[in-house]
Amino acid sequence: MDLYEYQARDMFEKHGVPVLRGIVATTPEEAKAAAEQLGTSVVVVKAQVKTGGRGKAGGVKLARSPQEAADHAEQILGMDIKGHTVHKVMIAEGADIAEEYYFSVLLDRSERAYLAMCSKEGGMEIEQLAVERPEALARVSVDPLVGIDAAKAAEIVEAAGFDEADRAAIADVLVKLGGVYAAEDASLVEVNPLVKTGDGKIVALDGKVTLDENAEFRHEDHAALADVSATDPLEVAAKEKGLNYVKLDGSVGIIGNGAGLVMSTLDVVAYAGEEFPGQPKPANFLDIGGGANAEVMANGLGIILGDAQVKSVFVNVFGGITACDAVANGIVQAFALLAEAGTEPKPLVVRLDGNNAVEGRRILTEANLPLLEQVDTMDGAAKRAAELAAN
Ligand code: GDP
Ligand code: MN
Repeated sequence: MDLYEYQARDMFEKHGVPVLRGIVATTPEEAKAAAEQLGTSVVVVKAQVKTGGRGKAGGVKLARSPQEAADHAEQILGMDIKGHTVHKVMIAEGADIAEEYYFSVLLDRSERAYLAMCSKEGGMEIEQLAVERPEALARVSVDPLVGIDAAKAAEIVEAAGFDEADRAAIADVLVKLGGVYAAEDASLVEVNPLVKTGDGKIVALDGKVTLDENAEFRHEDHAALADVSATDPLEVAAKEKGLNYVKLDGSVGIIGNGAGLVMSTLDVVAYAGEEFPGQPKPANFLDIGGGANAEVMANGLGIILGDAQVKSVFVNVFGGITACDAVANGIVQAFALLAEAGTEPKPLVVRLDGNNAVEGRRILTEANLPLLEQVDTMDGAAKRAAELAAN
């Protein structure tokens, strides 16, 4: 989960990283009130969107009066930045910037370590710098069992070539940012720019944080950071039910057991759809995992049938540890649960293969469920599901 800048700012503050005051506003009037409350001669109006390059897109503007803050907010709210609509702005204290630096720490999967990156030349051109003068961006590997301690921070600031006089203060902030990364189970903490102000203070002026959702269970407070309004309602419902669901644009609902099988099912359906009018495509990714019991099947089908774009559903199961007869029984019971809930049925194509497929198919044939068809091959079933979606 990516955080908004204002959420990253709050998180930084909680861990002792120096930040400037900031207040979120959703209207020009709120922006004006926020600027009055901050009371500084300069405030910055910053678009809150989960993408970079806001500055270049005109989403970051200095204001010298509360009225000017309101005017900028008026202009920035509703703006589209790389496909993200701005619904909130942060009104932040203006900083007197002497120098802009760059710092990030992220997961380095290939090295099984963390990677810290740091540069004396931060700011809006950092991507260009990384390409044109990679040597100006120090890259230092961080042992995940140690994290960014004082020694590692000293190594980073030295590698980045900071002046001797600046090193201690910057290293101190890097240790704290490393603390955010570790304590919050982040997979990315990026600060661009990390600035030195006119009076020599080091301040994190912009923050980007990605939290590792696998660690959510040990951070009760992280759930509140999720932006439910910006997430697809079906995805929210699926998450509440613990399902691995991703909404896509097409009309063929997909359920499978195992992420790999579901991924290849998406491909096969997209390919099969090409020969039908309107070229039906997959409507979602849904992996019901190994268990595939009646409740999981009913929850999965319930979510997919709740998608108005869905015209047909393809259930693709390869029986393994959970045999096909258990999955077939799950489907039969799921139909009963869905009928009880008043869910409108849609054409369903089931392909069962693998462990106990024959028995599974027999159970479904015998149950004689409305709108359910069985096709024994994956390609054949994908084709039939696409055909049903096209009609
Ligand atoms: P980004 O473009 O999305 O990364 O947004 P940033 O928050 O990094 O802001 C972009 C640029 O705006 C920064 O690199 C700064 O140069 C400038 N900026 C942001 N806040 C302030 C501020 O308080 N004072 C001044 N003078 N410039 C700022
Ligand atoms: Mn930035």
